[in-house]
Amino acid sequence: MKSYDIVIIGGGPAGLAAAISAKKSGIDHILILERDHELGGILNQCIHNGFGLHTFQEELTGPEYAERFIRQVKEQQIEYRLNTTVLNISSKKLVTAINQKEGMFKLQAGAVILAMGCRERPRGALNIPGYRPAGIYSAGTAQRLVNMEGYLPGREVVILGSGDIGLIMARRMTLEGAQVKAVAELMPYSGGLKRNIVQCLYDYDIPLKLRHTVVDIRGKERVEGVTLAEVDERGKPIPGTEEFYSCDTLLLSVGLIPENELSRGMGVKLNPITSGPSVNERLETNIEGVFACGNVLHVHDLVDFVSEEAAAAGRNAAAYVKAGGLKKKLGWEILLKPGQGVRYTVPEIIHPAYMNETLTLRFRVSNVYKNCYISVFFDSERVHHRKRQIAAPGEMEEVKLVKEELLKYPDLKQITVMIEEG
Ligand SMILES: Cc1cc2nc3c(=O)[nH]c(=O)nc-3n(C[C@H](O)[C@H](O)[C@H](O)COP(=O)(O)OP(=O)(O)OC[C@H]3O[C@@H](n4cnc5c(N)ncnc54)[C@H](O)[C@@H]3O)c2cc1C
Repeated sequence: MKSYDIVIIGGGPAGLAAAISAKKSGIDHILILERDHELGGILNQCIHNGFGLHTFQEELTGPEYAERFIRQVKEQQIEYRLNTTVLNISSKKLVTAINQKEGMFKLQAGAVILAMGCRERPRGALNIPGYRPAGIYSAGTAQRLVNMEGYLPGREVVILGSGDIGLIMARRMTLEGAQVKAVAELMPYSGGLKRNIVQCLYDYDIPLKLRHTVVDIRGKERVEGVTLAEVDERGKPIPGTEEFYSCDTLLLSVGLIPENELSRGMGVKLNPITSGPSVNERLETNIEGVFACGNVLHVHDLVDFVSEEAAAAGRNAAAYVKAGGLKKKLGWEILLKPGQGVRYTVPEIIHPAYMNETLTLRFRVSNVYKNCYISVFFDSERVHHRKRQIAAPGEMEEVKLVKEELLKYPDLKQITVMIEEG
């Protein structure tokens, strides 16, 4: 059985960036396992621009952004296997995978980096009444059909959900000649980036119907139309507000879920809010030497932050391997707590002894807040208070924690991040 210092599951932007940084940190025996026939992950189907503004100060398309990392993987001669699906990982880091050439095989990893990305929430999870006719797609499936396979899924479209993929597909379908009649969103705010609402809906006069949902789908063989209705504060449809839209296609963009079957199977502890692993300051899970990054950890808005986070996971995995699989005494432990208005934090725990000079704490807010403050409390003392004109659930927030500052509070037990209204 072959063994590698680091095995990375998934060759999307997270897996690629993690591999490159682990290699630059001095680890040679790295293997990326990717189930698709090419590296790059979901970015291969994101042919619009807007990627890489932070990383390269350029506006790249998804495939262009991915290509920059793929090139480095090849230049660094990092080994990868395509068309290879990881089936199982044991808590002792024994990886079982399968492909057509080798059949099923096992590999021993010194460290594992989980970078499997996320998948779309399916319609079945939504309880929409009506038949199950043709013409209902997840927005990501439609994106793949249009951008990679050259098919137009329909001509008259309604989109349910205003996450970024739904917004981007509203524009894409319009550019391909379809008529997008409305984007309906259950919440009183969009789940997507402000720039996508403006550039993908407003610029094309596509109505965004906040506090609306699909209450009926008409059509037995093929979608013939959908009924939208307004919802109350509890998300329940308000009788009398129903409006029928004739259409042949319904796209669903109703959320992403981390691909966590492998993580769960190996005994990784998951955060109930993100559905991704709970990690510490090194992005290490509860299993020593198993790290997580990218959308499998928590759903990101911008790929630039995926790459940044994954590079940190790669460095940390390299440090773990170099230390011969640290059997550490973790010592002083600080819990990170999402306070009022904050849904979760990544990481959830900090061991100052193992933290770098600065640590990026990422989180999402639970509502739209205007003229608010992002505050950080060390136990009961407020130590950061940063004004934000607007904070919305669709945009990831971050706070930088400085090790030197933490060390001034040797009895610190808990850090709370919260939103304080102005
Ligand atoms: C449908 C969809 C469309 C998106 N569109 C946009 C967009 O337009 N703009 C934007 O900024 N962001 C978009 N995103 C967000 C985007 O996914 C992230 O920014 C980024 O791609 C996340 O990188 P990742 O490497 O974590 O995940 P991914 O890019 O999803 O890569 C994960 C990789 O892991 C592989 N994998 C999973 N399980 C296994 C396994 N068991 N064995 C082997 N390989 C495995 C997958 O095949 C995949 O290649 C989209 C996401 C989705 C799901």
